[in-house]
Amino acid sequence: MDLKKLLAGPLGRVNSRIAGPLYRALRRFPRVRRRMEAEYETLVSGLQDAVKPYRDDFPTHLRLPAAGLDRTDLLAELEDLATRERSAWQQGFASGAVYHGRDDHVAFQSRAVELHSQANPLHADLWPSATKFEAEIVAMTAAMLGGEGTTHPVCGTVTSGGTESILLAMKTYRDRARAERGITKPEMIAPVTAHVAFDKAAHYFGIKLVRIPIDASFRADVAAARDAVTRNTVVLVGSAPGFPHGVIDPIEELSELAGEADIGFHTDACLGGFVLPWAERLGYPVPGFDFRLPGVTSMSADTHKYGYAAKGTSVVLYRGKELRRFQYFTATDWPGGLYFSPTLAGSRPGALSAACWAAMLSLGESGYQEATARILETAAAIRQGISEMPGMVIMGDPLWVIAFTSETVDIYEVMGRLSERGWSLTGLQYPPALHVAVTLRHTQEGVAERFLDDLRWAVARVQEEPGSAEGLAPVYGMAATVPARAIVSELLERYVDLLYEV
Ligand SMILES: *Cc1c(COP(=O)(O)O)cnc(C)c1O
Repeated sequence: MDLKKLLAGPLGRVNSRIAGPLYRALRRFPRVRRRMEAEYETLVSGLQDAVKPYRDDFPTHLRLPAAGLDRTDLLAELEDLATRERSAWQQGFASGAVYHGRDDHVAFQSRAVELHSQANPLHADLWPSATKFEAEIVAMTAAMLGGEGTTHPVCGTVTSGGTESILLAMKTYRDRARAERGITKPEMIAPVTAHVAFDKAAHYFGIKLVRIPIDASFRADVAAARDAVTRNTVVLVGSAPGFPHGVIDPIEELSELAGEADIGFHTDACLGGFVLPWAERLGYPVPGFDFRLPGVTSMSADTHKYGYAAKGTSVVLYRGKELRRFQYFTATDWPGGLYFSPTLAGSRPGALSAACWAAMLSLGESGYQEATARILETAAAIRQGISEMPGMVIMGDPLWVIAFTSETVDIYEVMGRLSERGWSLTGLQYPPALHVAVTLRHTQEGVAERFLDDLRWAVARVQEEPGSAEGLAPVYGMAATVPARAIVSELLERYVDLLYEV
């Protein structure tokens, strides 16, 4: 990898604060630019086969066929593709990704989608059923998250996923602060571990994101949050739990602080919204995180994760309709008519709301509680198994998203070796680590044991032959050593380009 040489040279020796500007300056020289493009090309082309496995086995379409293809043939091809991809997630080789996935549940969700495939909540007159589904999804989620009997009734909307829930909540606080306080340079505060969707919100909506550090237990530093509040702060964020290490921020303290400062507080429960209420009932130690805390003014909870709905829905909740209205968009003077939309999209898939509604009702409280019990038991076994391996360290005190690293081997190489055994784990950085988000897939007979066996094997392989892992491992390894993050960012862009190559 020649990039390494370049980094070992002038770019590698400078610290990260000046590396960015230095790289941007160097990049103005065509020779540097060409050289970098060649480096990216080499790195990304190494990933071609993994990303484009079907090039040899299936026809490639570069333009519309002159005449439509046969539906039977097309369905056969769709089935073939789905079959090739099924076993990895079905057998529990992924972290997160598919959260329920049992055959009967998948068939049930597919049937709901099929029945409502034409529905579009944008046309409330044509599909009042979609409106009913969404209103009830929101009501049930709110009731589950402490939203019953609050002075300002908890309300919300259905969105396309956790990212959209977060984007909308942040836009809502920005717009409220502008309308009510004249804040034109809005700031939000979030721990470094809060989901990257908060960066995306900052980027899209012109909000300054102030990231605060975490403490030794991987939870947000409350004192740092207090210091970060300014006159322009519109919202403070905490996660229950955070994506990287699966630990719950001190939501009670943070939301109290937000209440004192008279700013919004958002609990990101995308990951935990449909787990923590049941973990609490099962007697696990769950600190306050929901609307029972008076300072919590909004929440996000992903129905398409542990809500076990088909992919493509999430819920964003607010304390009171006054706050929710800042999320809406209305247009009164468009020749196309009077227009309103609650979320980012215009037309939306009513089928996904139908499936989500059906998933929630088919599980019920007992279904979620039972699923949670199984997940937490399996996760405890995995956590225990990892902690007994020499040199392995569990990060923080997680319940079911288990982050770990090694004191003896390169953890990204372990990730690479695990992928040789079919595993798809999440790589973390700052510090380097991996995590596995335990789902119902891992609660199947023998999966946890297989994971622990394969992890022991992977560590042994890295010890035997360090530096030889393939796939994403070298990319993560490189990314960890590059002070100029613009280089990593450009590399990611080239990777996205690759995804859109036919
Ligand atoms: C998954 C997740 C998100 C983002 O959700 P998407 O559905 O992937 O957009 C946000 N926050 C947390 C804590 C998550 O785990």
